[in-house]
Amino acid sequence: IPTIYGDGGPLAPIPDDLTIPQFLFDNHHPLGGEGLHNRSPAWFIDDATGREITGDQLRARTWGLANAMHARWGIGNDDVVCVYGPNHVDYPVVIWATHRLGGIVTGANPSYTEDELVYQIRTAKATALFVHPDSLQVGLAAARTAGIPDERIVLFDNIPGDSHKTLSDLVMDGLSKPRSWVEPRLKPGEGKTKLALLFFSSGTTGRPKAVMIPHYAVIANVVQMKQYADRHDADKPLDKKKYAPGDRMLGVLPFYHIYGVVVSLHYFVFTGGTLVIVGRFNFENMLKSIQRYKIGHLALVPPMIVLLCKHPASKNYDLSSVKLLTSGAAPLSAELTQQVARLLPNSAIGQGYGMTETCTTFSFPQLFMRVGTPGSAGVLIPGTALRILKADGSWGGYNETGQLVVKGPSMAIGYLDNPQATAETFKDGWVYTGDEGYVNEKKELFIIDRIKELIKVRGFQVAPAELEGLLLDHPDVADVCVVGAPDEYSGELPFAFIALKDETRARIAKDPKEADTVREAIMKFVMDHKTQYKWLAGVEFVDVVPKNPSGKLLRRLLRDKLKELMKEG
Ligand code: AMP
Repeated sequence: IPTIYGDGGPLAPIPDDLTIPQFLFDNHHPLGGEGLHNRSPAWFIDDATGREITGDQLRARTWGLANAMHARWGIGNDDVVCVYGPNHVDYPVVIWATHRLGGIVTGANPSYTEDELVYQIRTAKATALFVHPDSLQVGLAAARTAGIPDERIVLFDNIPGDSHKTLSDLVMDGLSKPRSWVEPRLKPGEGKTKLALLFFSSGTTGRPKAVMIPHYAVIANVVQMKQYADRHDADKPLDKKKYAPGDRMLGVLPFYHIYGVVVSLHYFVFTGGTLVIVGRFNFENMLKSIQRYKIGHLALVPPMIVLLCKHPASKNYDLSSVKLLTSGAAPLSAELTQQVARLLPNSAIGQGYGMTETCTTFSFPQLFMRVGTPGSAGVLIPGTALRILKADGSWGGYNETGQLVVKGPSMAIGYLDNPQATAETFKDGWVYTGDEGYVNEKKELFIIDRIKELIKVRGFQVAPAELEGLLLDHPDVADVCVVGAPDEYSGELPFAFIALKDETRARIAKDPKEADTVREAIMKFVMDHKTQYKWLAGVEFVDVVPKNPSGKLLRRLLRDKLKELMKEG
């Protein structure tokens, strides 16, 4: 089978007997981390307050929290801890403390509704919850339903008058007590199977599933990216390097998504830089922070770049410190790339490609070009291998289009408790991405289309099956298919084709105005149960939802129909 290998020579060593915090804090890797003699002592800056947090402080807080979590709750091997909140300087402390104890972290979107959070807690089997004060009420309700006891709910920050412990309470408590645990050590090779993260993705079909990501996958992806960057930076003086110790990145990507947790958090800290951690995303605040902290690195998703290009406020700030802007999680058009280049005079701009199942980065922006090759999603990084599965079932080579089938040291292991979905996507170490594209001789990747069901709204996953499952519970709905409608800002928005029940049709036949009432009620039904980025942009009634003889929804047919509808306006 023709196989295309990633850019560059042999891969640097990837420790397979370390957990993520051991790799970051205790190990002296030749490419970065604590081994960098000139790294910045400040690992983080809290965007809101400007407070700097050093690696030593993080090491101590991590230890204190681990000690308390073990003493109070007995958290240990393979226990799962859920974090439900936006970015926070202590978010990584929860991740690393859990890892020091041998546990696993699942990060949930803080905008989730109670039902969505319950689903995640149950699917991942989480037994403790760290929650942001703004989300406490939903967190409490979900924890109750999912069976997490109240004393295992911890607030990121204090709420006056509320009795729940804060994360700092636990850290102080842990630091004041003798060690109650022994940090597990992995055997050689064990890092490849020892789980670190359970992050959610719907894969090619069906509802969101917990993707099993081992420590080795995160460590590998960090090393792969650094090796790619180092090759470009090696012959450059310090002021021309794309990654120099002391550089600052704006940490706006959420840590509950694989792109945020691997690229902004772990990779950037490994390069010796300082991450300015931003809570909830606010566009003008982002501009202020770029200017205030002289941000060199932006890792963003396309809608944030749309705002940079279109929002009048962008011109009021000094953005000249930015030297690298990377975009990922959804396609960025060549036009937007050009537009944003005009706004950032000193920056290289490019796209990367990856997915939760590949533990993020498979291709990385062309660091050495002012703007990446138009339309390209970057260059295959060291250690990767790619095959092209063509529509006729044969395998292609360079410049041939087909499904991207990928392999590398950072691949996830599969979906938790779901052997069938695992078998469909993970085959002999290869991940069937459900994305269609091609690679040229320069190893530049081009994504053409998505052949899987998945809809991406502002970089977030929306699983059509999840919305279809909900809509089938609506009393007027007989059958349904949800597809993505193109949208300039969000990339896509969910749109539902619905076949109504006979009684509802009869009602509409009697009173045509009833159609609007039903449509609104259906849209409201989704709003009541799902977080905002899953809300329907529109509903179209059809006589039948088209299916093939075995009952599979013919999504492509409806995607085409939607295009026609949109043309008609
Ligand atoms: P997630 O697991 O949420 O990161 O979603 C992964 C999916 O996002 C991929 O399978 C692609 O469909 C899409 N994606 C990620 N990066 C890009 C990109 N640069 N261009 C187009 N689609 C992308």
